[in-house]
Amino acid sequence: MAKLYFRYGAMGSSKTANAIMVQYNYQERGQNALMLKPRLDSRDEEHTVGSRSGLNAPCRYMEELDDIDLTACDCVIVDEAQFLTKAQVQRLVSIVDELNVPVICYGLRADFQGNLFEGSHWLMAWADSIEEIKTVCWCGRKAIMNARVANGRVVKTGEQIVLGGNESYVALCRRHWALGELAPMEIRRISAGKAAYMPLLLEADPSRAMIERYLDAGELYVLMANGQTVAVAVMSEREDGSCELKNLAVAPDMRGQGYGAKLLRHLFKVMAARYDRMYVGTSEGNVAFYERFGFVKDGVIADFFTEHYEEPIVEDGRVLRDMIVLARQL
Ligand SMILES: [Zn+2]
Repeated sequence: MAKLYFRYGAMGSSKTANAIMVQYNYQERGQNALMLKPRLDSRDEEHTVGSRSGLNAPCRYMEELDDIDLTACDCVIVDEAQFLTKAQVQRLVSIVDELNVPVICYGLRADFQGNLFEGSHWLMAWADSIEEIKTVCWCGRKAIMNARVANGRVVKTGEQIVLGGNESYVALCRRHWALGELAPMEIRRISAGKAAYMPLLLEADPSRAMIERYLDAGELYVLMANGQTVAVAVMSEREDGSCELKNLAVAPDMRGQGYGAKLLRHLFKVMAARYDRMYVGTSEGNVAFYERFGFVKDGVIADFFTEHYEEPIVEDGRVLRDMIVLARQL
């Protein structure tokens, strides 16, 4: 009894290379394996399947199936099977059940948003055999998601299929797909060229003069993700031998993704080697954030913001006056 196989895997799991190898194995035994793929674009006249590793093989289009004589066919192989329609999967089922010819489909399980493709949906539903072709994320975990990447960033909105676009796809584990992290995050201490980070530092402290006062002697830490500077922090030493977080800023378009928290936890670890206590002076609106990390209120410096800054600082529609000082044991 012939079977319908669905072999799915994320981008870069060598599905096409596998398909070509299977066809080759049939040919070596003197048998005939028909290579098919759905035609996505009417302009596509290539009639080839090609793998990332450089293997290529001629193919016919699924849409041409009616013109192909299947009597001498020992096996049907379908590449890019995620793009099949329900009717095309039904057609493959009939080849298996009525002609007793095995059909082996290779394709992605889910699209860049994590939704099943139409072809994958019906293959998952009807295949006799469902097998996973595994590949790994940069972190070493199994990659099951296909991230769409445009301009170096993971994008989560758009059409399921983009023809002729300049997007590329990267296989990621579910966690890194959700976070949009294409490469390991990196936290570095910066000693030279600190001024380059001024625009981001100004996000957390609107006074350039104030920043210049602590940046030179302070320790600047930078969190990089996907080759982009995402968050910065400046630590300085206090006269009482403890340390103080003078600035913690996250790039406006990267907020709410836990980067500030990651940088802060890194600082706790690094600073604990040299200090017992970390202080931070902040506005009322940020107290809850720091309390989540174990900071407790230590004092208030009345009129700090009105006295030390030339321009009034408005936060949530109110002019900032007092600085709240928080402290945390390291
Ligand atoms: Zn990962």
